[in-house]
Amino acid sequence: MNIIIMGAPGSGKGTQAVMICKAHKIPHISTGDLLRKNIADGTELGKQAKTYMDAGKLVPDELVVALIEDRLKADDCKNGFLLDGFPRNKAQADVLGKIVKTDVALYLDTDLNKIAARMASRRVCPKCGYSTSAELAKDGKCKECGETLIIRDDDKLEVVENRLKVYAEQSAPLIEYYKAKGVLVTVNGNQTIDDVYADIEAALK
Ligand code: AMP
Repeated sequence: MNIIIMGAPGSGKGTQAVMICKAHKIPHISTGDLLRKNIADGTELGKQAKTYMDAGKLVPDELVVALIEDRLKADDCKNGFLLDGFPRNKAQADVLGKIVKTDVALYLDTDLNKIAARMASRRVCPKCGYSTSAELAKDGKCKECGETLIIRDDDKLEVVENRLKVYAEQSAPLIEYYKAKGVLVTVNGNQTIDDVYADIEAALK
């Protein structure tokens, strides 16, 4: 099954993506994680992407599309995959539609006031990408690998505002885009992590 997960920044996409991929044994392809890995590795792509990411802007389509085209060619995508953070605008969605078929576009519908609070408390693991909240990770350590958790550069308040604006202008229209294609599944993202996941699984069945 080829799945896309959509929703505003901080809507819980990454957390749900990890759970879905574990249960269905499909790769979790997050463009944000791939870009952060490039930054950590000091690649040319990472250097180019960092300026945009730090400003809460979208990285230019040609860079992200090349990254995703390459990743989707890998063997582990043959039996399906989950895309998290791609596509983020209509141009990317059109390109994706030419490469692969999307079976389900999951949309996590989450209230904006919840999102601001979630982003303020988000903590991520710089080593394995695990994402959690300051409340859940009281010792400040990654549950998966023990590394010290950090606050993402682009989770700072002034950048978050820009990311939400970019989301509303460029990414939110993709909800209608996939609805028109008949593959949209909307899930209430204002619930607990487990309840959101239960709704997703019920919808996937
Ligand atoms: P995320 O981890 O999905 O929240 O993405 C973090 C940042 O990476 C975004 O704010 C963008 O700057 C960049 N990014 C991730 N995915 C894309 C994409 N599909 N197109 C353009 N920029 C992206």
